[in-house]
Amino acid sequence: MRDLLNASSLQCVGTSATLAGSGTYDEQRAEVASVASQLFGSTVRRENVIGETLCRVTPARDFSDSAVVSELKKRVNEEDATPPRDYQGFVSSPLSIWIENTFGITTEAESGRIIRAKPRSILGPDGAAHALSALISTSMERCADVIQEALLAGYECSPNPETGFPPFAFRLHQFISRGGSVFASIEKESDRYVTLFGQQYVPGDRSRVLLPLVFCRECGQEYFCVWETLDSNDSDTPFFTPRELSDAVSDDEHERGFLYLSADHPWPNDPQAFLQRLPDDWVEEVRGVLRLRSGRREYLPQPVRVGKDGQQHADGLECHFLPGHFRFCLHCGVAYGARQTSDFAKLASVSSEGRSTATTILSLSAIRQLRNEKTLAFHARKLLSFTDNRQDASLQAGHFNDFVEVGQLRAALLRAVCDAGDSGLRQIPKASLPVNIPHKSLMMNAKHGKRTFVKPDCP
Ligand SMILES: [Zn+2]
Repeated sequence: MRDLLNASSLQCVGTSATLAGSGTYDEQRAEVASVASQLFGSTVRRENVIGETLCRVTPARDFSDSAVVSELKKRVNEEDATPPRDYQGFVSSPLSIWIENTFGITTEAESGRIIRAKPRSILGPDGAAHALSALISTSMERCADVIQEALLAGYECSPNPETGFPPFAFRLHQFISRGGSVFASIEKESDRYVTLFGQQYVPGDRSRVLLPLVFCRECGQEYFCVWETLDSNDSDTPFFTPRELSDAVSDDEHERGFLYLSADHPWPNDPQAFLQRLPDDWVEEVRGVLRLRSGRREYLPQPVRVGKDGQQHADGLECHFLPGHFRFCLHCGVAYGARQTSDFAKLASVSSEGRSTATTILSLSAIRQLRNEKTLAFHARKLLSFTDNRQDASLQAGHFNDFVEVGQLRAALLRAVCDAGDSGLRQIPKASLPVNIPHKSLMMNAKHGKRTFVKPDCP
């Protein structure tokens, strides 16, 4: 612009909500001025950088004064006291003042300027409840309760007559991290100790080992993900140790595999019974008799008796060990070809979902909950999502689209099958399809069973 207009004294004005550095207010202004000078190609002086000016909502009180503290203590310990809902009453409450001092604002030591306080949690050793409890010698639970109550009241209170805003507008941050694996003891389903905290033994009981579980992606049946480990001293009795699903390379002492233990659908040891449950391409019919194909014998589930300690004992529980990669599900029968050696597509652990899927599921769940939340105003039942990365945003948008469309397609198929009743559905010959099909890519999805991102021109 400057070049085009030959305007040597062009006045540049920049605004940003996020441009901030560390250090005092003055240091931050110097930093912003230097970035702005570079950006605009003309000198921006530090004193021309305007930051925010904060005002207290509540009157300033000194909480090192014992009289003020005892007033606060009295308020916190008042049973059945609800925070005032009128503006003046609310802001003059000693608890409101303490909350603003703790969560809202603080004073910069160098300049005496009011700045935003660092966000902090309510609970925990560094939490505000702990600090309040120490200040007024009251139980932490009580302090946490009154803080939460007062924060909510500050949001619901009648607004400041001058600004029209409620006294406290707080933001709540919830951090959701993915789980690890789920671990269980080697026992019947009803007796198992199940935990999300990875550890070697059931807490307090070193006779029961914990092994990670993985789940059939088709039916959800659980398997212990194990190494069958040979003890070099006592090679007759292998024992089972935990394995990550991605650990796949067996060696002389470790054989990878899965342990199956199901009370309601046990794997039979009688050949006539298990031949019926093996995948079709594992068996052949010779002169009317079903028999196992040669070459499959070594992959058959092997009956093993396993103790709670992971060792093989004669009096252990009867389980079945599936050596090598996962070839078929003993529960639902879904089978995989010999070339599909990666188990990730066949079995899931608690943590095997990616970030995009997790974001989609969490967001959809939040929206569904919000829609049913009748205590919220209709316009408030919404979810805003932020990302600092354009590539992430477009990936997530595509994922959302795809997920919703696949859900709709499946729902439509289910509805069609239910409506068709006993006569069932049949494939429509291509020639008789209507010409104008809006969901072209979906039709392709249905045909190939593939997940592809939906084209942007789809409604
Ligand atoms: Zn299954």
